[in-house]
Amino acid sequence: MGKPLLAPVLRSLAQGLHQEDGKGVALLLPFLLAGGYSLASRPFWGGGRQCKLRGMEKLEALKRLFPGKVDLSESERLRHGKDEGYPLARPVLAVVYPENVEDVQKALQWAREWEVAVIPYGAGTSLEGHLYPTREAISLDLSRMNRLLEVRPEDFLCVVEPGLTRKALNEALKGTGLFFPVDPGADASLGGMAATNASGTTTVRYGGMRQNVLALQVVLAGGEVLELGRPVRKTSSGYDLKDLFIGSEGTLGVITRLTLRLHPLPEHVHTLRVFFPGVEEAVEASYRVMATGLPVARLELLDELAMRALNRYLGAGLPERPALFLEFHASTKEALEAESTLALELMREAGALSVEAAKTEEERKRQWEARHQAYWALVHLYPGHHFVITDVAVPLSRLAEMVRYAQSLMAEMGLAGNILGHVGDGNFHTLVPVLPEAYPKAEAYAERLVERALELGGTCTAEHGVGLRKKRFLPKEHGNALEWMRKIKALLDPEGLLNPGKVLDISPSPGYS
Ligand SMILES: Cc1cc2nc3c(=O)[nH]c(=O)nc-3n(C[C@H](O)[C@H](O)[C@H](O)COP(=O)(O)OP(=O)(O)OC[C@H]3O[C@@H](n4cnc5c(N)ncnc54)[C@H](O)[C@@H]3O)c2cc1C
Repeated sequence: MGKPLLAPVLRSLAQGLHQEDGKGVALLLPFLLAGGYSLASRPFWGGGRQCKLRGMEKLEALKRLFPGKVDLSESERLRHGKDEGYPLARPVLAVVYPENVEDVQKALQWAREWEVAVIPYGAGTSLEGHLYPTREAISLDLSRMNRLLEVRPEDFLCVVEPGLTRKALNEALKGTGLFFPVDPGADASLGGMAATNASGTTTVRYGGMRQNVLALQVVLAGGEVLELGRPVRKTSSGYDLKDLFIGSEGTLGVITRLTLRLHPLPEHVHTLRVFFPGVEEAVEASYRVMATGLPVARLELLDELAMRALNRYLGAGLPERPALFLEFHASTKEALEAESTLALELMREAGALSVEAAKTEEERKRQWEARHQAYWALVHLYPGHHFVITDVAVPLSRLAEMVRYAQSLMAEMGLAGNILGHVGDGNFHTLVPVLPEAYPKAEAYAERLVERALELGGTCTAEHGVGLRKKRFLPKEHGNALEWMRKIKALLDPEGLLNPGKVLDISPSPGYS
């Protein structure tokens, strides 16, 4: 088969890559990664003369609608058709930079008229194929909507536009005595974080996005603007539509404003690194800390490989042993001392070998910076590799068993991955570096890990979201509830314009009536 014939075949195969039956992953990804990819990654448009004329016409209409706010360069179109974790990329038709809610409405109207999909874009740090276009699409890059609109310290809240990043928000809050706690490893946008229900190292104490978003403004596919939630700590008023949009991954609406809960900066902070002979002892120690109800503010697991990668990448000089990184926040020195002393006792009983405490604010920052760099450190250690990242969570009492299973499964399958965990939340990641030919093996590992997590009452993704890659696990995790999710999608986005192909497929699962 010559190239001109092969390209459309590959494109349509690539479209079906992550159907819920999961077969495409095993059959296609290795081939695409090994080179067929360059054909499958071509844009969707092209084709005959008529098609090209229509393509030019719609782009002209878009440029007229958004003077100075459209980027058609190849590099930007490709950058917006990929995320940080998915191995494939494909250029979007155009990148549009809205500057206000009216621009978002106009872009959606244009999309409806020309039957082009819309993929909202925050900072592009998602990991599961969230931004990869499965059909002709524009990227709606919200980075110009990045203002901090209001801070109300007396109510512990602020109002932001979606393109503001978490680091920029905390920088702007300096001097108020308040902070926004949710801290995924990357400097993500707050809109993107809400859209993926992100969490981070402090979630064990302060909660993730669902617990910290009080209200949202959302534009629906049809252009209607909804105000969801109230700037209060509690409400029992009506169905909770705000939480429906949190974690909807750009498939139900575009988030254009967020009201966020802020927290007082802790008066006293104690930061520790505790080293263990093995990962199992570290997980057991984390369970004991949680079981006593200690108000730990951060409780993170890093295995030996993660520590080795950090040493190579940052010259961190860390002992190359499994470790728990912990932090305690308290309002008095006495409370802080009592809490950390008890935690240390519990961890020693569970087998801790040694402890290092941060003595200065600088050391404290370095510790958490290292934790946030753990992904990049591994990428650096394995140049030229793709990464299969797992994100399971299980009930706390089953975490040790789950981590043990992950370790033995990787060994059995001849895979070398590291284990990083928000273990206080029962959630851990394995990052498995592989060359293209070993990709199916790593995906098979991820599948077995998810199956085990589901058997133990867990979830396939605790924080990264579904995107394309984890779609195949949803029928098993959600059963017939998935059909009701489809109905919600069909109700809110009947033309299927918003980030199509992500989270779920529109057609029902076989056997559902
Ligand atoms: C090194 C590294 C570490 C990470 N660590 C963590 C972690 O600890 N915890 C965690 O939860 N995640 C983590 N992530 C994943 C990622 O940072 C989060 O998923 C983050 O929330 C994505 O935000 P973003 O602004 O980059 O969104 P994008 O990647 O731009 O978009 C993500 C999804 O949200 C949608 N979206 C974006 N903005 C909007 C909007 N305004 N309205 C509607 N939909 C929108 C997009 O369409 C897409 O489906 C990590 C990623 C990296 C690279």
